Amino acid sequence: MMEILGKIGKVGQWTFATLMGGLFPQNCLHCEGRIEEDGDYLCGLCRQEIQFIQSPYCNSCGAPAELSYDYPTENFACGLCRDKTFAFDRARSLGEYEAGLKKLIQHFKYQNQPGVMREIAPLLQAYFPMRDEIGPEFYVSPVPLHFRKMKERTFDQSFLIAREVARQLNLPLANGLLRRVKDTESQAGKTKTDRAKNIKGAFEVDRADRVAGKDILLIDDVLTTGATVNEAARVLKRAKARRVYVFTLARVDG
Ligand SMILES: [Zn+2]
Ligand SMILES: [Zn+2]
Repeated sequence: MMEILGKIGKVGQWTFATLMGGLFPQNCLHCEGRIEEDGDYLCGLCRQEIQFIQSPYCNSCGAPAELSYDYPTENFACGLCRDKTFAFDRARSLGEYEAGLKKLIQHFKYQNQPGVMREIAPLLQAYFPMRDEIGPEFYVSPVPLHFRKMKERTFDQSFLIAREVARQLNLPLANGLLRRVKDTESQAGKTKTDRAKNIKGAFEVDRADRVAGKDILLIDDVLTTGATVNEAARVLKRAKARRVYVFTLARVDG
């Protein structure tokens, strides 16, 4: 009898956990250890292990650099940036796309979990005061999703990140500066050249008068080769944006 009750109890628990799982995962997304606080996605340890990208890095694209400690890093430019590969003026990412941060972003994006912003917001809160690169003249703009993807996902992760960044930095959120006119294939698994080709022509500026002369902070979730943000920056620059800075939550190493 106890055994049967035990089984019913387990089924009950399982159903409850499944129902609640969509809202509040019971285990850490990264180490799968138990989480004490309701509503968290990472355990305390995995959260602590998220490291911000620190200097030295390329002053333009933010790529971490292997430099000796006495090298002057302020004006360091990596090979890609010396060749003027990018249309944006500079890019920065909060951390590397690995461990807990990677799990958060994947859960956010592919599992349709906008609640992950509860974990991301405090990371941004800790990150931005360390950087004084973004002045009050900037407008925050998410890299837009195509409406068809928006429908599949029901929410736009770049928009949620951009809204939070704008709130924290007390900058205007300029949603709608860019429009996604091409429903591109996923960039995942593509080579650098194919990524650039795939994204070409994906964005348009509706009203160049709203872009001309402005400083824009473009927001995306992950920077891999930089092809997506570069194409968005190219279109903004063509519409006479003054400076285009990029911020992504994570950066894929390599
Ligand atoms: Zn953990
Ligand atoms: Zn660079």
